[in-house]
Amino acid sequence: MNNMNCDPDNRILTSSPTSTTSGSLSQEVDHLLPTSLAAEELQLALNKEATEEELLKAINRCKDLVLESDQCSVERKWLVRHLIELRLRLQECQEAMNDPQHPRNKSSGVSKRTIRGHHLNLQPLLRSTASRYCDHCTGAIWSVVQAWYECEDCGYSCHHKCLAFIIRECAHVVASERGSYELDICPEIGLSGQKYLCAECKTPMSINREWSETRRCDYNGLYYCSACHWGSSAIVPARVIHNWDLTPQPVSQASLQQLRVTARRPLINLEKLNPKLFTFVHELNLVRRLRQELMGMRKYLLVCRKATEDHLLWKHVDIPHLIDTSDMYSLQDLVDTNSGELPSKLHTLVDVFSKHIKVECEICRGRGHICEICSNDEILYPFDATAYICNECNVVLHKHCFSRKDICPKCSRIKFRQEQVVTENGNDVAEE
Ligand SMILES: [Zn+2]
Ligand SMILES: [Zn+2]
Ligand SMILES: [Zn+2]
Ligand SMILES: [Zn+2]
Ligand SMILES: [Zn+2]
Ligand SMILES: [Zn+2]
Repeated sequence: MNNMNCDPDNRILTSSPTSTTSGSLSQEVDHLLPTSLAAEELQLALNKEATEEELLKAINRCKDLVLESDQCSVERKWLVRHLIELRLRLQECQEAMNDPQHPRNKSSGVSKRTIRGHHLNLQPLLRSTASRYCDHCTGAIWSVVQAWYECEDCGYSCHHKCLAFIIRECAHVVASERGSYELDICPEIGLSGQKYLCAECKTPMSINREWSETRRCDYNGLYYCSACHWGSSAIVPARVIHNWDLTPQPVSQASLQQLRVTARRPLINLEKLNPKLFTFVHELNLVRRLRQELMGMRKYLLVCRKATEDHLLWKHVDIPHLIDTSDMYSLQDLVDTNSGELPSKLHTLVDVFSKHIKVECEICRGRGHICEICSNDEILYPFDATAYICNECNVVLHKHCFSRKDICPKCSRIKFRQEQVVTENGNDVAEE
């Protein structure tokens, strides 16, 4: 294997989102066979299923063409690149022949593996424009030539040759077992607490060596070697919950994958963890109010035949927990609250649902209330911002009407009747 590809620092540069996007276009163009070489097409083994013999021939032809081409020409550039690819393909082909477990070895055909909770699927040989790196050895994955697997649950990717050495548990399994986030901000135990070993692969880490080789993960406070911590960054839940700080922080690859698989799970009970946040962050307060309103509307829609037939809830709600509860948030919800995306999405939902309940649907309208205090014929709904619901008898009144009277008419009626019954019974007893 080309050693250059195993340098993790090289990978950090190339894996940065900016370099992949800017690089993808030129890469795509470079892949095309220069028209001047069209005549050679059949001899250059462009076909991905070429045999060992065909590859050997193509390598020789390619070498000759390199020598014949002009220095710095487009043809020379393309040929050199193709030569590297052909050599890798030959190597992969030979490895496959010698390894009965190799997926490209026709006798095995193993395309699915379960290792450390990962559900790894063999990936097709593709000329992908995105750079990809092995989560085990950190080397580049040459998706055109190398056999590689990807976990369908967490996205862990690795070479076929690295399968046997996987250390990291599947992020999906780890996150599901844990069921919650680390809630302390970067809870460090220090290198001594880790016995000077990488938190994942247990490689010894010396403080005498360059500091850059020892990397701290901001999510769990642990130190990692550069093969397990690529300098990727992610928004850290504890920083959001305690500080409303959404700045991405450096995290290990294991933490990055865990944060990725849990990003849309409602794991954060903000009401319990930091209720003060609602007073500081206006958008959060707005989201909470809208969610409570939507929960009230949901009760109407669940019992409405028309709404059920129209799949009104299914059709419009892509994140069910947003209207099933009002306390639980996913990390993504908080990010979208900060960006303003979630409040506007909830506003739209409120509009759609209230249009059904208050305007379009007779069934739902029939379930509205009339304020007993003012007897105004305006229909009141428990989810309205202007509504007051009596804790005792659940009657729905105008907020302003109730605060004026400070007494619930239904409750006082019930109380009055009870008193009457008591005195009548008392009179009966006295008469006997
Ligand atoms: Zn690898
Ligand atoms: Zn996995
Ligand atoms: Zn490590
Ligand atoms: Zn309805
Ligand atoms: Zn009223
Ligand atoms: Zn009442």
